Amino acid sequence: MPEESFNALQFANDLAHFRAHLEHAANEYHPIEQQDPAAAALLVVINELTTNTDPTTAVARAMTAFNRVRDQQREHEHAVDSQRKQGAAELAAEEEITRKVACPTCGAEASLSCVGTGRSGGIRKKSHADRVRLARSLNEGDAPTAPQDVSGQSTAPM
Ligand SMILES: [Zn+2]
Repeated sequence: MPEESFNALQFANDLAHFRAHLEHAANEYHPIEQQDPAAAALLVVINELTTNTDPTTAVARAMTAFNRVRDQQREHEHAVDSQRKQGAAELAAEEEITRKVACPTCGAEASLSCVGTGRSGGIRKKSHADRVRLARSLNEGDAPTAPQDVSGQSTAPM
């Protein structure tokens, strides 16, 4: 009885499963940070080799796929990073303005941080809302921006 050396049906089945697994891992239609560049590359090399592409070309195409995903991921990481930095800078700038005034809620003096505004050691050291509002209104009062025109209907006929 000849031992099964190569079961074509089994191979086709296994390959289909493997492809499905790789397609899932490559996640082409998902956000770039969720895509696996190595899975994308392996998928390419398998597809190319099973359609009789020359091995060197197959590997070259796989590497192109890998690099494309990696490049997009790096781009995405940079964008996220600079967004985070900008957010932190804006928060710090706002906090700096807020600390110019004393807090009407907890009584913290100017330049001191509010007392009891949640977790200590957190990244966001937010001041009390009233202090933020007060500081903002004073700050906007200073700034020579366009004055708010709130003339609707005249209420008091004189
Ligand atoms: Zn406060």
